[in-house]
Amino acid sequence: MTTDQIKGIIDEFNKLGVNSVSFTGGEPTLRKDLPELVDYAGINYSFYTGFATNGYLLPNLFKENRFEGLDYILVSLDFPNAKKHDNYRGINCFNNAIKGIKMAEKRGIKVIISTVVMKDNIDLMEDMVSFANNLNCTIEILPVENIVRYIDGIPHKIEKIDDFIPNIRAWGDKVLELRQKYNNMVTDLYTVLIIEEGGFGGVPKHQDYLRCHVAGAYVFVRQDGKIDFPCKLHPVKSFDALKIPLSKIFRSQEAREIMQMHDNYDFCDGCRLGCAIATSIPTSLNMLYEKYISAFFKGNLR
Ligand code: SF4
Repeated sequence: MTTDQIKGIIDEFNKLGVNSVSFTGGEPTLRKDLPELVDYAGINYSFYTGFATNGYLLPNLFKENRFEGLDYILVSLDFPNAKKHDNYRGINCFNNAIKGIKMAEKRGIKVIISTVVMKDNIDLMEDMVSFANNLNCTIEILPVENIVRYIDGIPHKIEKIDDFIPNIRAWGDKVLELRQKYNNMVTDLYTVLIIEEGGFGGVPKHQDYLRCHVAGAYVFVRQDGKIDFPCKLHPVKSFDALKIPLSKIFRSQEAREIMQMHDNYDFCDGCRLGCAIATSIPTSLNMLYEKYISAFFKGNLR
């Protein structure tokens, strides 16, 4: 999409009543117009605005831009040292990420470190939380996702992904232990329970805590302006947001019917997509309280 096309989508978000906009990728910092788009969302509309990044370009971006509309950044860090992290990422981004985090902190921009737990770093979870704490950052720690993505109806799974998946119970126990010890952890009790009990979907259902509400609670606009329902993993129906107003898409019979399905599709079996869990949680008052209100008073959402 062009800059103007994305701004047009952001205008539509405002009409739809959206309150938070996040730029993700791939790597959104590769777009030269990212600062302009962030300020458009964060200043023109006061959306809670952020972007997700590997941190490689952060120092330059902060040097050249004020980012007045930016509320937070989500920085991927999987190891607390450059050697291992850069080896896994395939790019020397650790040192730049740390530099960028410090620059963000000085500007009052919230930093969330996002750590993907694999077999190789599960023993370093406490090191990661403590490392984030020393940087004055909050941290989200989720196990690597065993995503099956459907493209043109054909399932694609990352080769050998199962070799990386850690022991889920060990991950969950450690998260709960670390939540007692550190107040910078944003991964919450219900996210742990949902993942430990098998994620979304399943026949019979894996867990009764939460159904997937991603189709109604989260608008994921692809780089070509398409919106997939129910989610980006398995498009049952795609709409072109460059041609059809978002409010019309969301009010359409087809979108409504898909929203009512929640995770009742076969392809939802075992899904633990982090953004689907995070955006579904506010649909339950208990979970909303645990993840945001109680966590805020405990200091986990500093
Ligand atoms: S559970 Fe939700 S996010 Fe996962 S595949 Fe189903 S609709 Fe998509």
